[in-house]
Amino acid sequence: MKDYDVIVVGLGIMGSSTLFHAARSGASTLGIESFGPTHQFGSSHGETRIFRRAYWEGEKYLPLLNRAHQLWAELQATTDEKLIVPTGGIFIGPQSTGVVKGSRNTAKAGAIAHEVLDATQIRRRFPAFHIPDGMEAIYEPGAYIIMANKVRLQMIDLAIQNGAETRFGRMVKKIEKCDGSVLLITTNDGEKFRARSVVITTGPWMARDLLPELSNHISSKRVPIYWFDNLDKHKQDFTSDNFPVFLYEHPDGHLIYGIPAGASSERGVKIGFHNRQHVPCTPNDIKKTVSKQHIAEMSRYIKQLFPGLNPHPIASRSCFYTMSTDENFLIGASEKFSNIFFASACSGHGFKFGSAIGESLALLAQGKRPPIDLSAFAVSRFDVSGK
Ligand SMILES: Cc1cc2nc3c(=O)[nH]c(=O)nc-3n(C[C@H](O)[C@H](O)[C@H](O)COP(=O)(O)OP(=O)(O)OC[C@H]3O[C@@H](n4cnc5c(N)ncnc54)[C@H](O)[C@@H]3O)c2cc1C
Repeated sequence: MKDYDVIVVGLGIMGSSTLFHAARSGASTLGIESFGPTHQFGSSHGETRIFRRAYWEGEKYLPLLNRAHQLWAELQATTDEKLIVPTGGIFIGPQSTGVVKGSRNTAKAGAIAHEVLDATQIRRRFPAFHIPDGMEAIYEPGAYIIMANKVRLQMIDLAIQNGAETRFGRMVKKIEKCDGSVLLITTNDGEKFRARSVVITTGPWMARDLLPELSNHISSKRVPIYWFDNLDKHKQDFTSDNFPVFLYEHPDGHLIYGIPAGASSERGVKIGFHNRQHVPCTPNDIKKTVSKQHIAEMSRYIKQLFPGLNPHPIASRSCFYTMSTDENFLIGASEKFSNIFFASACSGHGFKFGSAIGESLALLAQGKRPPIDLSAFAVSRFDVSGK
């Protein structure tokens, strides 16, 4: 049986990043993943994710965002492959409410370059959006697209170059104590490994399988994502100069996000609801098709908000959100064994933080202090009833 300093369970973005940072710092490291290096389950698959720092979700994310931004740039410097595609980001909503207010506050607090645009200015500069009077936007020129599959594979590749080992197609079934504080890890085919520390980054599977202590705080939802073609006469409105990554808070409270076409091999503009069409499910619910009702509802919003898009999606697919009860992350050490660490419940907005969360988990697993204070994401913020 082989011994490791750190074993990482689950190689989505959080686990791949942890594996990379642990291996790079010299720890003997093993990553175990149920599926292959790429697959369609969990939350990290697909080609693109949004990175933005004018974060309407709150200033507490700023230190992690700043560190993540630095680390994405460092990762980009390791390859000629394009991992980051600058697009700018626009965050639209009714004046001085939710997304607009939150984005402005965080941008100001973090001295992040931004502009405040009124409805007329948005219409002039970004004609793809239908903007009623009374809407406002924060434009962040430094926002970008992260090439999701590519960054994850680059991290795994660099981890292996730094000595990490991997087991794909193996599921961790049990983690228990063996000698002293050393942990014994058993996979579904009976293989056993020993580790000084384990990092669990199994997304929607986390509370169900390996960390039931988190089950009051985590739930998994199936959420659809759609792709739309532009109508020919509006082609110009959707070129990368005119169409940044976006959040659009509808006056009815529904929040829609999107990524322009052309950054990846995916055809069409990628659009989804962030806070609607969530279907409670178990993590093994691998149904990928989207219901007719959800497609029809999204088409109605597209017709209203993007008159230059064909409202009938060219493709749609379901993905997972691992939600915490307050939609903030859960990062910390297990109550049961203090050398088991975890990060999850990234509640549909975690990918952009993956570079920095992986770094912090790798340090924690080696008994070192992470550069960022993670106490805002501790489970202890909930009372015993899980609220
Ligand atoms: C449609 C969609 C759009 C999104 N857009 C954005 C965005 O624009 N920006 C952003 O920042 N975030 C975005 N997110 C959120 C982001 O993608 C997730 O927060 C992030 O991918 C979560 O990664 P993870 O590593 O925690 O989990 P996962 O990706 O779910 O990875 C968990 C891994 O663990 C493996 N596993 C599970 N159990 C075991 C076991 N017992 N043994 C071994 N392996 C196991 C699984 O196979 C899986 O590979 C989006 C999410 C979705 C679904």
